[in-house]
Amino acid sequence: MNPIQHDDWNYAWINGEKVFLKESMDVINPANGKPMGRVPRGGKELTQQAIDAAAKAFPAWSKLPADQRSSYLLEWAERILADRERLAWLLSTEQGKPLEEARGEIFGTTVYIRWYAEEGKRAYGEIIPASRQGQRLMVFKEAIGVVGLIPPANFPGAIVANKVAPALAAGCTFVLKPAEQTPLIAIALLDHLMATGIPAGVANVVTGVAEEIGTTLSADPRVRKIGFTGSTEVGKILMRQAADNVKRLTLELGGNAPVVVFPDANLEKAVDAIMGNKFENCGQVCNGINLIYAHESIRLQLVEKLAEKIRNLKVGIGTEEGTQIGPMIDPSYLDKVETLVRDAVEKGAKLVVGGKRVTDEGLQDGYFYAPTLLDDVTADMELTKREIFGPVAPVLTFTDEAEVLARCNNTPYGLAAYVFTKDAARMFRMIDGLEVGNLAINGTSLANPQSPFGGVKESGIGRVGGHQGLEEYMELKYVALTIE
Ligand code: ADP
Repeated sequence: MNPIQHDDWNYAWINGEKVFLKESMDVINPANGKPMGRVPRGGKELTQQAIDAAAKAFPAWSKLPADQRSSYLLEWAERILADRERLAWLLSTEQGKPLEEARGEIFGTTVYIRWYAEEGKRAYGEIIPASRQGQRLMVFKEAIGVVGLIPPANFPGAIVANKVAPALAAGCTFVLKPAEQTPLIAIALLDHLMATGIPAGVANVVTGVAEEIGTTLSADPRVRKIGFTGSTEVGKILMRQAADNVKRLTLELGGNAPVVVFPDANLEKAVDAIMGNKFENCGQVCNGINLIYAHESIRLQLVEKLAEKIRNLKVGIGTEEGTQIGPMIDPSYLDKVETLVRDAVEKGAKLVVGGKRVTDEGLQDGYFYAPTLLDDVTADMELTKREIFGPVAPVLTFTDEAEVLARCNNTPYGLAAYVFTKDAARMFRMIDGLEVGNLAINGTSLANPQSPFGGVKESGIGRVGGHQGLEEYMELKYVALTIE
């Protein structure tokens, strides 16, 4: 039985209170294209109210001892865990992902929150040996101020947590703007944060028109930082807007992640790892594999093994038992995938599995695309240049290590890469040569709260996770003290 109710989410959280607006926007269930809830259609005014509240709350929150801030975070995690099943249903219904993945994501939010609850206590400063007698050189770490947090729709629980948790742990107050496709899970998570009794104004969430909310956050000099995860295109807009008051940014942007399978790789393990990454969340993962480079000597075997597994993936509604591939979050993502596959096939790619929308009985109104395998993919095809962000696995062939390395780097993106080989020297050549922020060798799993995840080149600025992720929300204050 579905444990979620859709009626009472129509609010933003501002200054510790629910705010209702007359104007609302529908939240669409991607499995059937029908509204499943409504949220306020906020804009400049609502955002301004939220910034006012966050600015007012900042001095007291930032001065609170770190372990007191930590106790709010720990209670938040406990409340989420106690409500895990309902939250997972909500996430799966709103976003489309299989319930099992949604359960994992909700658990993942608590892992991030707990980790930063601890890490916030370790924001140590520094004392530096001075060059003058009687002087002390010290570095203090201070919360940066009010921050604007803008997560995307693909992991709308986990990415709320990996922004909110370090921000609160560092002593920042925030205004969160969830993606328009997935505001309900963000509000539900914030409900639990509010229930901890966190002081009014520390945590605010506004929903509505993205551009207007983004512009308002960017224009206000009291907002000292924007933490954003989403497309490179929107990241660039936010970066331009931030220039006006030299706002700090953490940007987690798009990618074009390759996986390189060398002839000495353990093929069985490589295939399982590639499947786990490529088809998680219906391929809507920023560090999801975009290109599969198979060495010519093992390509046929790799394609055969992948084809068998992809054919057996079960497409369906996320909350139904056994579903492995849910709908895409947004019809525009579906259109893009369809266009990219068509372009590849027209240019000579071989369609091995899938390659079409799924319109089976019961799924015809949702945004479903069949898990797809393409072989004989070449560099002139659009899907090798753009992030596919869908359940499509393209296989390309290579012959030589230096050649494949150059091809992997021939992109403006630099988020993630994956390599399968047993050769230690080759591993280090790939570590040295690949222009990415994150690299997995003989595996495809990267996300942990303790690891600094982030991109180079047009894939982003700054890091999420690790002590580095906490420092993204802190400023350094250097003090030279002369003792008299
Ligand atoms: P994707 O392509 O993954 O959907 P987007 O970059 O479009 O990613 O969206 C990521 C987040 O950015 C969402 O919360 C979205 O509402 C928000 N967003 C989109 N346009 C803007 C904008 N102009 N200013 C601020 N936020 C925006």
